[in-house]
Amino acid sequence: LPDESGVVTLDACIMDGVGHRAGSVAFLRNIRNPISVARKVMDTTRHVLLAGDGALQFARQNGFPEQDLLTDAARQRWLEWKRGLNPNDNLLDQSHDTVTMLCLDRAGNLAGACSTSGLAMKIHGRVGDSPILGAGLYLDNQVGAAGATGVGELVLRTLASFTVVEFMRQGMRPSEACRAAFERMCEKIPEARHPQEALIAIDKRGEVGCATNTGDFTFYYGDGERVQRTKPTPIA
Ligand code: ASP
Repeated sequence: LPDESGVVTLDACIMDGVGHRAGSVAFLRNIRNPISVARKVMDTTRHVLLAGDGALQFARQNGFPEQDLLTDAARQRWLEWKRGLNPNDNLLDQSHDTVTMLCLDRAGNLAGACSTSGLAMKIHGRVGDSPILGAGLYLDNQVGAAGATGVGELVLRTLASFTVVEFMRQGMRPSEACRAAFERMCEKIPEARHPQEALIAIDKRGEVGCATNTGDFTFYYGDGERVQRTKPTPIA
C-alpha cells in the first residue's frame, strides 16, 4: 500500500555476518526489489545507507528496471482511505507487510534481510525501522541475529533488534531475548502493547525464537529440508 500521497515507497536492509557488512535503502520508489538494491549498496559501495532520489539514481545506474508499484487494488484502497469511506481504517494496525529473514549457513555464518513498503498511508518521506541497522534488523556473527516487524516508530525508539542480540550475548535464549526486548519496549513506551509488533531471532547454534503481541503474526522456520509454519501465542 502507498503513502498518504499515493506513492509506494520502500525500505530495506541486508546484513552479512562475515565482515559485519551491511547495505540499506530508504524511501526508495519504483524499484520492485529494494533488497537487491540494498545488497548492491553493501557489495559495491563504501556506504551503508542510500535514501530517496539518490537511492533511485543508484538503482537506475545499476540496471534495476523502474516500474509503477501501485497496483489497482492498492490505488482503490488509497482512494477509499482518502475519501474517508472506510470507518474501520486504523493507520496503526493496517497492512504490516514487512518480510524479515534470518539465516545461518552450514559454516555457522549469519545473514539477514528485511524489506517493506512500511506503514500504509504514512506521511510522504517517512522512513521506518526496516532500513535502520539495530532497529528492523541486526546481527552479530559471534552471537545471533534478530529482526522486527510492526509499527516501526516503536522499534526505532528502542532499537529492538539490537536489544535482542545484546540479550542473547548476555546468555538468553532467542525466545527469551525476544520477550525481554519486547518487555523493554513496553516498559519505555506503554502503548507498544497494542499496535502489532513482532520480534524474531536465531542464535549461533541455530535455535530460533520470537515474541509478538498479535495473533496475526506468522513465523516460518526452515532447516534446508522442511519448512515449519508457526503462529506464536501472543504475549499480553
Ligand atoms: N515495520 C514496518 C514499518 O514501520 C511496517 C511493517 O512491519 O510492515 O515501516
